[in-house]
Amino acid sequence: MNQQASLIAPGENTERFLLRENFGLFINGEVVASASGKTFETWNPSTGEVLARVSEGDERDVDRAVRAARAAFEGRWRGWTPYERQALLYRVHDIVERHFDELAEIESLDMGAPISRTRASKSALLKMILFFAAQSASIAGQTVQNGLPGDVMTLSIKAPVGVVGGIIPWNGPLVGQWWVLGAVLASGCTAVLKPAEDASLSVLRTVELLREAGLPAGVVNVVTGMGHVAGAALAAHPGVDRIAFTGSTTTGRKIIEASTGNIKKLQLELGGKSPDIVFADADLDKAVPGAAMGVFANSGQICFAGTRVFVERSIASEFSARVADFARSIRVGQSMDADAQLGPLISGRQLDRVMSYIEIGSQEGARLVCGGQRPGGVPGNGYFVAPTVFADVSNDMRIAREEIFGPVLSVIPFDTVEEAIALGNQTEYGLGGAVWTRDISRALRVVKGIHTGVMWVNCYGLIDPMIGFGGTKQSGYGAKGSNAHLDTYLYTKSVYINT
Ligand code: ADP
Repeated sequence: MNQQASLIAPGENTERFLLRENFGLFINGEVVASASGKTFETWNPSTGEVLARVSEGDERDVDRAVRAARAAFEGRWRGWTPYERQALLYRVHDIVERHFDELAEIESLDMGAPISRTRASKSALLKMILFFAAQSASIAGQTVQNGLPGDVMTLSIKAPVGVVGGIIPWNGPLVGQWWVLGAVLASGCTAVLKPAEDASLSVLRTVELLREAGLPAGVVNVVTGMGHVAGAALAAHPGVDRIAFTGSTTTGRKIIEASTGNIKKLQLELGGKSPDIVFADADLDKAVPGAAMGVFANSGQICFAGTRVFVERSIASEFSARVADFARSIRVGQSMDADAQLGPLISGRQLDRVMSYIEIGSQEGARLVCGGQRPGGVPGNGYFVAPTVFADVSNDMRIAREEIFGPVLSVIPFDTVEEAIALGNQTEYGLGGAVWTRDISRALRVVKGIHTGVMWVNCYGLIDPMIGFGGTKQSGYGAKGSNAHLDTYLYTKSVYINT
């Protein structure tokens, strides 16, 4: 692995942004210190060095932010027409487009994704803003008939649910936050965002750009801080009407428990252990890199990663060898290495977790084909692990049952379509999945048979907000994308008019 590659120097705007001694909270349109005055460090996962200091919000800050969001919701923002909200989203689109290089650099430095990946996310991000801009002009109730005596007219109105708490994960906040932000701005709700403590900076920069685009004070607020303090306070706050959460199933359970106080509406996108099923007739030139990147992309830190690769037995050893060759050819490097395809994991804690699963896999009798250790030649003390392939895995091993959230692929052989479907479904999760075959009937059988919120055929991980994705089983509920998404930021009022 040649590590002589050029490290990209962050641009002037990025440098200026990172020069700040301390990143404040964003409440009611202002950057403010936390009530306690406390701050925490955020690291560059490529080097293990401190990147910035961020304000550590607690219950008091969350309360202040929720009050600001409530006041904005009941205030002038309420009177904004759908066209005005749409025009705001178009202005935001243009500002984000202009500042995109800076945003991508901040994201890469903060959460470790290679700059090639964050730069490539530009069209996905802009598309999302355009999608929600269009959605703002599509909100509609219905006029319906009824069987009431007399002359009564019945209709329904859609209204924004109120204050939304957005609890954001660290695995791609630059784009991921838009599932919440876009829906909030399109629907007329207001929000308090709680970014993940490991990656807050792209969220903080985004709200500044929103303000530049003309976002009224209080409509979007950001409280940075620890999950079990600021996140928990937001999830429990009686002034919050709805929580949108993406993260682990364990934390998702806590969010559900916290929601019972005031019966918050929830959208939860949680963990996964997605099946990726490769038949012997598949085009392996596509299936090998496709299935490999279905796991390794973002260093495995994607909730719908296709970590259980079921391979028809007749090609299982050829597939394992080819996928391992592919894994060895992947360039792992620092996030600002222009040629890096994979970056580090988010933190030392995550690195320890992934390494312990690799050990568990070997102990359970899976065959380590490649990876399993730090990649050679990457400078610095970053949290790197080489793309790892286990062969001869069985579906009941822990590495096939538990979410690892790292670049660890398990090859599990199967003999028949029925067996592949049964094994694919043998998991508590139900997020993603894929099938690789040239036989369309078989592909459709698998698509129908697997219980997940999204299935890909001869591809992996494509997302478009118009169709979106979601989870079933213990992977959560509530749509991300499609017309159903905005609907969950609205409630329906039935109106009876005695004419
Ligand atoms: P991880 O353990 O990989 O960091 P989490 O699901 O814990 O994944 O994190 C996702 C988001 O949830 C982060 O923003 C985190 O700060 C937040 N979070 C963590 N614990 C809680 C909690 N108890 N209540 C609310 N939010 C939380």
